[in-house]
Amino acid sequence: MSSETAVQARATGPWVFGFDQGSAEMRELLGNKGANLAEMTSVLGPDRVPGGFTITTAACVEYMRTGEFPAGLEGEIDAAVEQLERDAGKRFGAEDDPLLLSVRSGAPVSMPGMLDTVLNLGLNQSSVEGLARVSGDGRFAWDSYRRLVQMFGEVVRGLPAMGFEDALTEARRAEGVTDDSELSEGALRTLTDRFLGLYAEHTGESFPEAPREQLRQAVGAVFQSWNNDRAVTYRRLNGIPDELGTAVTVQRMVFGNRGGADSGSGVAFSRDPTTGEPEPEGDFLMNAQGEDVVAGVRNTEDLADLARRMPEVHRQLSEDLAQLERHYRDMQDVEYTVEEGRLYILQTRNAKRPAQAAIRFAHDAVSDGLLSREQALGTIDAASLEALLHPTFDPSAEYTELTRGVAASPGAAKGAIVFSAKEAKDRAGEGEDVILVRPFTSADDVAGFQSARGILTSQGGKSSHAAIVARGMGRPCVAGAALEIDLEGRTMGVNGTTLKAGDSIAIDGSTGAVTADDVELVEPGFDERFREVLSWADGIRRMGVRGNADTPDDAARARELGAEGIGLCRTEHMFFGPDREELVRDMFIAAARHEAGAEDLERALASLGELQRADFIEIFQAMSGLPVTIRLLDPPMHEFVSAASFAQELEKAEASGDSAELVRVRERVAIAEELEEVNPMLGTRGARLGLLVPTLYEMQVRAIVRAAVEIAEEGEAPAVEIMIPLIAYDAELVELRRRALDAAEKAMKELGASLECKVGTMIELPRACVVAGEIAADADFFSFGTNDLTQTTIGLSRDDAERELLPLYLGQGIFARSPFETIDVAGVGRLVKLAAEAGRGTNPDLTLGICGEHGGDPASIDFFGSIPLDYVSCSPYRVPIARVAAAQAEGSH
Ligand code: PEP
Ligand code: MG
Repeated sequence: MSSETAVQARATGPWVFGFDQGSAEMRELLGNKGANLAEMTSVLGPDRVPGGFTITTAACVEYMRTGEFPAGLEGEIDAAVEQLERDAGKRFGAEDDPLLLSVRSGAPVSMPGMLDTVLNLGLNQSSVEGLARVSGDGRFAWDSYRRLVQMFGEVVRGLPAMGFEDALTEARRAEGVTDDSELSEGALRTLTDRFLGLYAEHTGESFPEAPREQLRQAVGAVFQSWNNDRAVTYRRLNGIPDELGTAVTVQRMVFGNRGGADSGSGVAFSRDPTTGEPEPEGDFLMNAQGEDVVAGVRNTEDLADLARRMPEVHRQLSEDLAQLERHYRDMQDVEYTVEEGRLYILQTRNAKRPAQAAIRFAHDAVSDGLLSREQALGTIDAASLEALLHPTFDPSAEYTELTRGVAASPGAAKGAIVFSAKEAKDRAGEGEDVILVRPFTSADDVAGFQSARGILTSQGGKSSHAAIVARGMGRPCVAGAALEIDLEGRTMGVNGTTLKAGDSIAIDGSTGAVTADDVELVEPGFDERFREVLSWADGIRRMGVRGNADTPDDAARARELGAEGIGLCRTEHMFFGPDREELVRDMFIAAARHEAGAEDLERALASLGELQRADFIEIFQAMSGLPVTIRLLDPPMHEFVSAASFAQELEKAEASGDSAELVRVRERVAIAEELEEVNPMLGTRGARLGLLVPTLYEMQVRAIVRAAVEIAEEGEAPAVEIMIPLIAYDAELVELRRRALDAAEKAMKELGASLECKVGTMIELPRACVVAGEIAADADFFSFGTNDLTQTTIGLSRDDAERELLPLYLGQGIFARSPFETIDVAGVGRLVKLAAEAGRGTNPDLTLGICGEHGGDPASIDFFGSIPLDYVSCSPYRVPIARVAAAQAEGSH
């Protein structure tokens, strides 16, 4: 139908379209369901899809406006039902072999579970007997009838579900069975009578016997369900306009449980849904309805059994699968029913598949000429790819899940429980696999991350310290699990079970599952097909992909997975570890005493500088000539110099009996106490720290330059980018940039070398976005720190939100997904776009990147591609995801 006719139909009708009159393009008028059924009918032909028709969304809108069916609708419905009767050779609700209909709602947008369905319309006291006769199954006929009365009562007349449920419970009790499917025909007859009584009691009318009246009322009820409370709330939360209306699809019911050896139901895939191998796969259940297959009451057979039992049906099904795949250009997941030897396809959709199958399909589809590379990449759920890089629980393993926390860093791991970083190191040193379990983690625990196979916490979520560090290091992590951890007693309670240090545990950071069972792990498969598909993505995408890497190992991994440089090297992560932390403490204490030039400070800085130089050398080597963005120290001072961090030092001094030493340490503790801030994340960190302790950044710049010069002398000069964090004011950047360049120049002069050093800034505060035009004049690059930008724009702490507020907001639908996981396009995203455009306005050479967690999230990458940014940067294991998502983004703008 042309779009002109569609517009006309909206205003005046026609109100009804047969499945053979519509197409996928008519979603607005026919709803998703109606348009899909019409499309499938046109692909497979009307004999293969149970016939039916769709009443348009326009009819619903009219009904909402006037409270009545629009003129002409009833006549059109009658004509459509007559057509169905002719096609099926059966009469709607007839006493012998009745035609039965289903009525379903279908809006033009997906509104899962919000609107209503009524099945088995056309059954009544006489046609139920007819159905029992032709199916040879009285139990089935009466079960269908009692379901009709129940659904009709609830959906059409608003009867409370409880009344029916109570009657069902009573019937089960009377027959001594536990499941409805075990009720006898006699019990179902009595139950149906009971349901009919309930209906009459509640409505003051008897249940409508006339099939046309049942249909009329059901259609009206679906229209009305558009305005039920659930649907209205769902639309409000998801920004769906009320004026869309819902369509109603009316379809002939087919039954796979009509007795005999020539009926059944099943689910089939056009290719193996777990491996992607190009062979159809599926289930078949003789003499069964679709829901029996899903419910798993009986063991299903496979397609080979179908081929044996009904070779012609199997041949048709295989052909249909291939045809649907060619038409939809994607792997299909099909529901089918065989009624007395005739195959019907009830539904087809793109098959959900794990990463391995997605890669296999994309690869084969291009080789077979089914899809272009761009199209093939479009069929991959980029986010799922990370699973290919980590071990997973064996999909066929059976285990008891103790609890499920936040899937914070993918991959599965198992090992003995340890409760401290030290224990992790010690036991791992003895060759044991361990899982580090903590309420939450901090800098002190990082050494334990290296030693542990996985990390499990009872607090925090995807953007907690544990999650970020674990993802960076490629360690599986489950965060925020419902555990009661007793660090002193070295036990953890979970769901009534108490586990001790040393007990075995397994976690799956891709699903959040925690179990004490010994689950088999499966190793990842980064195979040739995967490499090839990634290389197609590289050929298509324009946005660069870098890695966030803080250590030489991370850098090497990022490179191996295809990173084109480092977009964020968080230098504070180089300050972790007991020896380094002590030096950092010395430095801050000396600085707080305002002892610039003091011996303590100089000594601490010199040692730290040396350590950093060595780290940078290895990182530059791993990146051989690619850009490396090194961020000068950012985190709040208290992460290194909290009063608690002196505990050991104080203990030692007290035990030593050296009173002068004790005074010295106490003085350090007092300074640390003075340095404590109420809101450290909004306090002395980033650029502010750089301005407060100028020698700190100077030391870091000097270490960078020395390392870079050394590497340049060996051969390939690194492309060094020095990044200043947490800038709000242009004046901060002007000052810190001047000092950085001075320090760089001084270091180069000493070394007799020259090297280009870019200096840029993170944009991670709303003010910086607003004045980005001015800041850009003094920056070679911007890198959007969307973690802090999200935290400060929404005013929601990234470290605390996941405890209570995120679940609450997600539960109430205020957030569709966590804004720390996927960019809040309307708010934070708008600031990024504004800043990018203003920055480029003043400085056309400005390079624009993003290095927050969103840099590895496909939906966010799609948004960044729309600006577009020059590159995204993410943790090493998400680099392949970003490569594919950046290629997908090309097609969507
Ligand atoms: C950010 O804020 O987005 C960022 C990358 O920095 P960090 O997570 O280290 O604060
Ligand atoms: Mg930040």
